Amino acid sequence: MHRSLPAVAAMFSLAAQAQTPAISDADLAIAAQIRDRALDGTSAWDTVASLTSEVGPRFAGSPGDRAAVAWAVDKLKQLGFQNVRTQDVTVPQWVRGTLEVAITAPYPQPLTAVSLGGSIGTAQGAIAAEVVQVADIEALRARPRSEVEGRIVYIARRTARARDGGEYKAAASGRTQGASAAAKLGARAIVIRSIGTSSERFGHTGTVKYVADVPRIPAVALANPDADLLERQLALGRPTTLEIRSTARDLPPMRSANVIGELPGSGAPDEIVLLGAHLDSWDLGPGALDDAAGVAIVTEAVRLIREMQIKPRRTLRVVLFADEEFVQSGANAYAGQPVAEIERHVVAMEADLGAGPVWRFDHRVAEEALPGMGAFMRVLEPLGIRRGSSTADGGTDIAPLRRLGVPVISFQHDASRYFDYHHTANDTLDKVDREALDQTVAAYASTAFLAANAGGDFGRLPPTPAPAPANPAVPVAPR
Ligand SMILES: [Zn+2]
Repeated sequence: MHRSLPAVAAMFSLAAQAQTPAISDADLAIAAQIRDRALDGTSAWDTVASLTSEVGPRFAGSPGDRAAVAWAVDKLKQLGFQNVRTQDVTVPQWVRGTLEVAITAPYPQPLTAVSLGGSIGTAQGAIAAEVVQVADIEALRARPRSEVEGRIVYIARRTARARDGGEYKAAASGRTQGASAAAKLGARAIVIRSIGTSSERFGHTGTVKYVADVPRIPAVALANPDADLLERQLALGRPTTLEIRSTARDLPPMRSANVIGELPGSGAPDEIVLLGAHLDSWDLGPGALDDAAGVAIVTEAVRLIREMQIKPRRTLRVVLFADEEFVQSGANAYAGQPVAEIERHVVAMEADLGAGPVWRFDHRVAEEALPGMGAFMRVLEPLGIRRGSSTADGGTDIAPLRRLGVPVISFQHDASRYFDYHHTANDTLDKVDREALDQTVAAYASTAFLAANAGGDFGRLPPTPAPAPANPAVPVAPR
């Protein structure tokens, strides 16, 4: 029943020849079977449960990171993947240590806060200074030096709830670039309102990117209710001071690995459809949504196809990337393979926006491949997914491949609740909804199959330059 091979006649029908990727009716029927099987229930949730309970937090360079690599190798083998292997990756190592933040005037109170990833600590024991509030990163850059020098900058930018998560990207520039922008004006530290939508009392971490040749200053994020409290005291119009103590610091780089497994193609095994997710998480919690869910979605998508004894024409390759959260060492190592290897990648997709459900189908493919992309909707529409744009960036881990010309397919997961938990201690298994996760697997699995069997391909994208690397690793040999 599930063994039906792509109907060659349909694949080369006149209609199909007119456009690529060319998807046959026979393959659409198989993709619909894959989709419906996933909707009947998958084992994706069990994979999230396994990674979060047997490994837990797995920040790059930590013991949890090494445990996660071992877990992934075992899991992929257990799930029937072939060619399971690791690609060595050198990752920086940062530890947050301890953090204390308190308002010391006008009304002293302790605040709930977290260090931003990569932040330096407070070397002299503590930094105490008056606070200057700015609305956002642009407002900070517009301030005269005299209003910032010697002070602690506070960025008040809120993250609005949004289904497409677009608000996060807009707000996150304050987190990534705020420290160096403030330090350029002589600030001693930076404090931001957490980039997140939760009103609970925990901070959302995330990377700070220090610019070369600008002094590094400590960077922390306040829990949203604590940001409210600080703002209320500032609104009284009296000098408001903060004290920050942090033992965050860099340690020598460590070894980690990308973990790779495949379902080899039956007709064109040298051509690769890549499904990626990141294996690492932040140190604060088990990263159930970010990105154990993604790991589960891409592994389950391929496992399901194999279990149904469907043999896709191209190779389905799952890559579980190291160190997405901090400096993307895994993605850069993967894209750093020889050009001939990169050119084997026909299309790439990545799951890194929580546990679903998926509501929009985006992509970035060559112009000549655009007309063929509509065929995917015949399988996706019944899942409640609508067509998006062809301007997708694909996601953090496959972006380096896209910049090298590899086309990308990108599913928008419903991110309305995602940023309540993102990069916090509260990103735990109970936040993962089984039904939403299965719908997401249905979308990835059916699409991956169609991409693997499509006649023609997705073309190549014009290469684009990579951004400058953030926080260049401490030049010490990895351990
Ligand atoms: Zn992530």
